Amino acid sequence: MGRPANATIDLDALRHNYRVAQQLSGNGQAIAVVKADAYGHGAIACATALADIASGFAVACIEEALELRAAGIRQPVLLLEGFYDAVELNNIDEYQLDIVIHHQYQVDALLSYTFKNPIRVWLKMDSGMGRVGFAPEVYRSVWEQVNSHQSVRDIVLMTHFACADEVENAHARHQLETFNEHTMGLPGDRSLCNSAALVALSEARGQWNRPGLLLYGVSPFPESCNVLPELKPVMELSSAIISIKEVPAGSSVGYGSQWIASRPTRLGVVAMGYADGYPRHAANGTPVLINGHKVPLVGRVSMDMLTVDLTGVTDVKIGDRSVLWGKGLSINEVAEGANTIPYQLLCNLNRVPVHYNEELERALSNSDSLAV
Ligand SMILES: *Cc1c(COP(=O)(O)O)cnc(C)c1O
Repeated sequence: MGRPANATIDLDALRHNYRVAQQLSGNGQAIAVVKADAYGHGAIACATALADIASGFAVACIEEALELRAAGIRQPVLLLEGFYDAVELNNIDEYQLDIVIHHQYQVDALLSYTFKNPIRVWLKMDSGMGRVGFAPEVYRSVWEQVNSHQSVRDIVLMTHFACADEVENAHARHQLETFNEHTMGLPGDRSLCNSAALVALSEARGQWNRPGLLLYGVSPFPESCNVLPELKPVMELSSAIISIKEVPAGSSVGYGSQWIASRPTRLGVVAMGYADGYPRHAANGTPVLINGHKVPLVGRVSMDMLTVDLTGVTDVKIGDRSVLWGKGLSINEVAEGANTIPYQLLCNLNRVPVHYNEELERALSNSDSLAV
């Protein structure tokens, strides 16, 4: 059997969450964001599981896109940063990928390239994210340039929010106004929403929405803000108790002897550490779910193990399953304990074997025959 640490991925939950995103999108479409190996869930597995219901997929780079095409994904695939180098245009053309254009060097490369197939461009405005995209003032003239290329089939008007997860923050509304003002009268579909905006900023919903995190059943809002009770967590990170012992008051636990028992303590050790992606910076008190009890993490997280306080919990024994996040323990709670965001925890998953529910494993074993 070996080490009990595992990540299990529930593809039915993924499909359920996609349908939630599709409902939130109203008459628009939800393009499933599966960049960074689907936020640690496995891009091929997730895209394959969504292939018959998703309107398209979005990834960060050509490598991720080609992986999806090789796995037989035929829906639109969008490169969220477009191309980094003009040589990518050969593959973009051949595999008919959608591209974001966010900078003049990309426009220049596009205009001097002869495509075999029509291409859809997503033209990005920097409406206040302050990262990539064209300034609102030049957006219209760039649109004209891109539109002059005879292979450009259509141009999706696009922007990205900086603060959509802060529901009270007015910045997202300002961005929306800026975007609307500077795209007024331009033809084409619109795409603004990430997960948080899709939920919290209904006026921003467009023909194409770009949910990522919420597909994986994780709220883009802090734990206190439970706006999406219908989401189902897709990943469960679990392991087992490998040691239980009673230690007297005054005993120190773990590296740096940073935690000291203030009373006689029943100490449990779970086979899970930062080499698996569990955050080393998780504070004392960060919850771990064992036999339905939320028990507090104590002491520093090590590479392969972490320690919990089982005092007062009588029905726990060696080998009992321990859930680090998943059903019954929101990853947002762990992120809060580690002073980070659930995105980072999911993407940092490492070393643990990843298992999929059966239906998914079957689909994947057939996927060779779908390769392009
Ligand atoms: C990653 C990304 C998204 C998805 O964001 P979530 O917060 O995970 O929903 C949407 N749009 C762009 C441009 C992105 O880079």
